[in-house]
Amino acid sequence: MCSRNAYKIKNILSDRIIKTMSNNQFFQNKKTATKFIHAGAEPDPSTGAIMTPIFQTSTYVQSSPGQHKGYEYARSQNPTRAALETALAMIENGHYALAFSSGVAATDAVIKLLSPGDEVIAANDMYGGTYRLFTKVFEKFGITFTYVDTTNPENISKALTEKSKLIWIETPTNPLMNITDIKAVAAISKKAGTILCVDNTFASPYLQNPLDLGADIVMHSSTKYLGGHSDVIQGALIMNDVSLKDQLYFIQKSCGAVPGPFDCFLVLRGIKTLHVRMKAHCENGIAVAHFLRSHPKVDKVYWCGFEDHPNHMIAKNQMKGFGGMLSFTLKDTSIEAATKVLSSTKVFSLAESLGGVESLINHPASMTHASIPREERIKNGLSDGLIRLSIGIEDVEDLIEDLQQAIG
Ligand SMILES: *Cc1c(COP(=O)(O)O)cnc(C)c1O
Repeated sequence: MCSRNAYKIKNILSDRIIKTMSNNQFFQNKKTATKFIHAGAEPDPSTGAIMTPIFQTSTYVQSSPGQHKGYEYARSQNPTRAALETALAMIENGHYALAFSSGVAATDAVIKLLSPGDEVIAANDMYGGTYRLFTKVFEKFGITFTYVDTTNPENISKALTEKSKLIWIETPTNPLMNITDIKAVAAISKKAGTILCVDNTFASPYLQNPLDLGADIVMHSSTKYLGGHSDVIQGALIMNDVSLKDQLYFIQKSCGAVPGPFDCFLVLRGIKTLHVRMKAHCENGIAVAHFLRSHPKVDKVYWCGFEDHPNHMIAKNQMKGFGGMLSFTLKDTSIEAATKVLSSTKVFSLAESLGGVESLINHPASMTHASIPREERIKNGLSDGLIRLSIGIEDVEDLIEDLQQAIG
């Protein structure tokens, strides 16, 4: 454990950060809460400030040409970002992490590992913006995307060809809460010699660590649970392989989708309470899922914590809890019925995004997933009436009362 997780951050981080390696190695081997609170943080050497300073600078002074302290220009290196990247690596049990200006910028960097003619096998049920990036931006550069139902890993095996270079999965999925067996897909990927990237946004590093299950890259929209307070847009990639890290760092620096230092500070701060928030999201999630399932006007509740969820046992094995996301449909399948619920909640705010402390309600067909053509959506089980909830950490009685009055 100790040697596998030892930090090999030399190439991307400065001497100054390398000096803190022993600090981080010490906390790497502590229990979750201790690790999440101390990950990447150390008192500022010049002042003793306990919180990582926001290094709001574009450049760094050199004493003579090429003589610098490991920082040359802030697109390539920034100390606030370096502290965050160390924290991200630690909490995902990875060797390296890179922070990006958004989740889709992180996804974009992964696809830029590929060349024209290469093929990606991707999940048919995933974040709408990922689908849009693949189909509308990268297809025209000659990269092919094949979408399969990854909840049955055999479908991936069947879709693989000699040109396959990357497998992209999301689990649990957005918004249908489908579960894919990461370990099984990692075995298929290893055999085929492809890269497996897992979008771990919905679970967060507290509930699920795909690298431990054999994935090559973990992707996060840090905008969601990592930030946790709906006040920042950011993304992340975490990996173990040094050559992957070198290639992705080169893309990060060359394409320039880096987050600003203040945003890095916000996500670092979010990580310190991730474990506390996730426990509360999970607890509230359980209560809301059961309330909805027993409601006479509710038809189907999509939540991987139900024992009769098709891949419940896989979720139970690869996750520490079932999280705060769920979706449901009403027995009245008209758009009007869904719209009434969506516009009547008072504690749940009608908004895109998820993973913040406050509860949100969303209509995927017209909001987060509007970029997926309707027939594609319907084919994959995302009906027009589907309502998605991001269950926050308010008092659960208030959340249930709010849904009760909105559903009627
Ligand atoms: C939000 C989200 C993204 C995109 O992240 P941004 O930070 O909005 O760019 C990717 N995947 C999932 C699962 C998401 O929820």
